[in-house]
Amino acid sequence: MVVGELVRAELRRVDWASLKCGCGDSAEHVPLLFEAIITAEAPRDMIGYTLDDHVEGGTVIFECTPPAVGVIMASLAGDLSTPARDVLLQTLLFVAAVPATMNWMQKARVWATHGHCGRRRNGRRYL
Ligand SMILES: [Zn+2]
Repeated sequence: MVVGELVRAELRRVDWASLKCGCGDSAEHVPLLFEAIITAEAPRDMIGYTLDDHVEGGTVIFECTPPAVGVIMASLAGDLSTPARDVLLQTLLFVAAVPATMNWMQKARVWATHGHCGRRRNGRRYL
């Protein structure tokens, strides 16, 4: 599969390097993760590329999550392999499962304050 123009437009309109990724680094590498997943024909093509703990972390979201959802929606409008579609839909499912009592910015702010490392160290979720 190829990365369509709609997806490329969504990727281009975001300054990924200025956003915090769930892994703790800047989100500059998130477009590469998307490209690997979108172009994957089989699960083995995605080995080493995941959105888990980058775009979402088991119903925990990060600063890069809102624009990533736009990329996912654009991707789903195009041709995808079944494994790639499954990964993207599963990511959306986890993002949608984030408690609805907080808006996007509140969730991102909580994450920025506590960070996912602290969450794991304490064995608790802050969101
Ligand atoms: Zn990351």
